[in-house]
Amino acid sequence: MPAVIDLHAHTTASDGDDRPAELIAHAIASGLDVLALTDHDTMSGLSEAAEAVSGSGMMLLPGIELSAQVIDEEAGAIPRSVHLLGYGVDATNAVLAGEMEKIRSHRDDRLRLMVEKLGSDYDLSWEEVSQAMPPGATPGRPHIAQVLIDKGYFPDTSAAFAGPLRADGPYHVPHYAPRLHRALQVIVEAGGVPVLAHPYTGARSGAVRHDRALSRVLEDYQVFVEAGLAGLEIDHRENTDEGKEVLRAVASEFSLIVTGSSDYHGTRKPNQLGENTTEESQLERILEQVTGVAPIS
Ligand code: AMP
Ligand code: ZN
Ligand code: FE
Ligand code: FE
Repeated sequence: MPAVIDLHAHTTASDGDDRPAELIAHAIASGLDVLALTDHDTMSGLSEAAEAVSGSGMMLLPGIELSAQVIDEEAGAIPRSVHLLGYGVDATNAVLAGEMEKIRSHRDDRLRLMVEKLGSDYDLSWEEVSQAMPPGATPGRPHIAQVLIDKGYFPDTSAAFAGPLRADGPYHVPHYAPRLHRALQVIVEAGGVPVLAHPYTGARSGAVRHDRALSRVLEDYQVFVEAGLAGLEIDHRENTDEGKEVLRAVASEFSLIVTGSSDYHGTRKPNQLGENTTEESQLERILEQVTGVAPIS
């Protein structure tokens, strides 16, 4: 039987619901052979996860989902938020540690500002949101969503994100994130293998403008490949069907690693562990390129 490999999952170290040890237990119970831990802008869940995986027979690949942004050169271009997975990164690398700290501190300011703005139309305070946040967690909009749900404003996270938490809504505040070129450098310097998370969730999203001819899309990706981009997370529930076709063409042109993963966040999001998986040959390519930290089993 081929190994079941899921390379994208979150815990209470960022905006997931499971503690790291719970995630590992859940992954083992779900029959996974390999799981990558990829919390947003932190690796603070790794030690607990590593302890839980020890002797279980499952392999844990240390990782991160680093926030980044792309700003097109055209005047008036709106920055696009992109997520960069880094596999096998060494959390003690000073450059990575500094970048994680900077993003997390800006995320904290930004979430407070969003709560202030929301407070004019919703019964909501920072005290309530910070209480809903596990200690030390990377602050994110899902933590606000939880309080709005608990107070009966919305039935679930998706509804809150379709409402006041949406990125183009009146309450949204952006946060600092390094430019994608810098993020790629940071991951590579920390010994990791950079793979773009959910790279095509719509023609206007992603690292490049996907609403252009394929030849131009390829040209734009080439710049990131030259900066160290190693792979694309193609099998992800949020990539569109049309997007997956384009991404396969990009991966084929540049011989990129192709992954598939669940982006599991716990029971409050529909994503289930193992719903999308990565082929063993692609995991091998990742492991060959890692120079940071080895997988744990
Ligand atoms: P933030 O990091 O604060 O910008 O919030 C983005 C995070 O919110 C993502 O990493 C997802 O975990 C979550 N998220 C984004 N869109 C949705 C949605 N439509 N429904 C549920 N969760 C979402
Ligand atoms: Zn998330
Ligand atoms: Fe993401
Ligand atoms: Fe994610």
